[in-house]
Amino acid sequence: MRQVVLASANAGKLREMQALLAGSSFEVLPQSAFGIEAPAEDGATFSDNALIKARHAARASGLPAIADDSGLEVDALGGRPGIHSARFAGEGRGAEDNNDRLLKELDGVAAAARSARFRCAMVFVRDADDPAPLVYEATWEGKIGFARRGAGGFGYDPLFIVSGDTRTAAEMPAEEKNQVSHRGQALRALVQAITART
Ligand code: IMP
Repeated sequence: MRQVVLASANAGKLREMQALLAGSSFEVLPQSAFGIEAPAEDGATFSDNALIKARHAARASGLPAIADDSGLEVDALGGRPGIHSARFAGEGRGAEDNNDRLLKELDGVAAAARSARFRCAMVFVRDADDPAPLVYEATWEGKIGFARRGAGGFGYDPLFIVSGDTRTAAEMPAEEKNQVSHRGQALRALVQAITART
């Protein structure tokens, strides 16, 4: 089993990524096991930020690292909150406040104009200075509801009505979300690429 550090401090994401990697040839260790703090995410894109997190965790642990950066793009808001999804309602605020802000900003926007997608960039580095990181991006289409529904998932899941479905992401069983989500798609592609390279 090869050890790899999961470079995320978000409990919801860690849970999903650990489940997705459960059957793989990796022994996954959360960065908290090494006392690694999250670095400043000052990249301009999801993949820039994922790479910053992966290199940071690899440098601090001395192990290969996998990192995700993800967020919600809402068309009626010109793609916001995008890379700022975690801090949409302000620094130090949580998912409840972020969802409240989203509902407020979409007040008066009709159902047909509430299209949105989750986007995820997933990165693997063999070490902190890896000149050839593996980067995979994926999206998950949906629309923003008018009220929260469901108790599963994390973040914006209770407001995200999955395309082609009547349920929100928070109403899906965790395994089903992992099958179809932006994070699931990107992580499966990444694992395949790592396996093919070694
Ligand atoms: P990051 O840690 O900077 O990548 O923050 C990503 C943020 O995007 C999270 O804190 C959530 O607010 C949101 N997000 C990303 N993926 C999901 C998801 O699968 N469900 C709900 N919210 C998500």
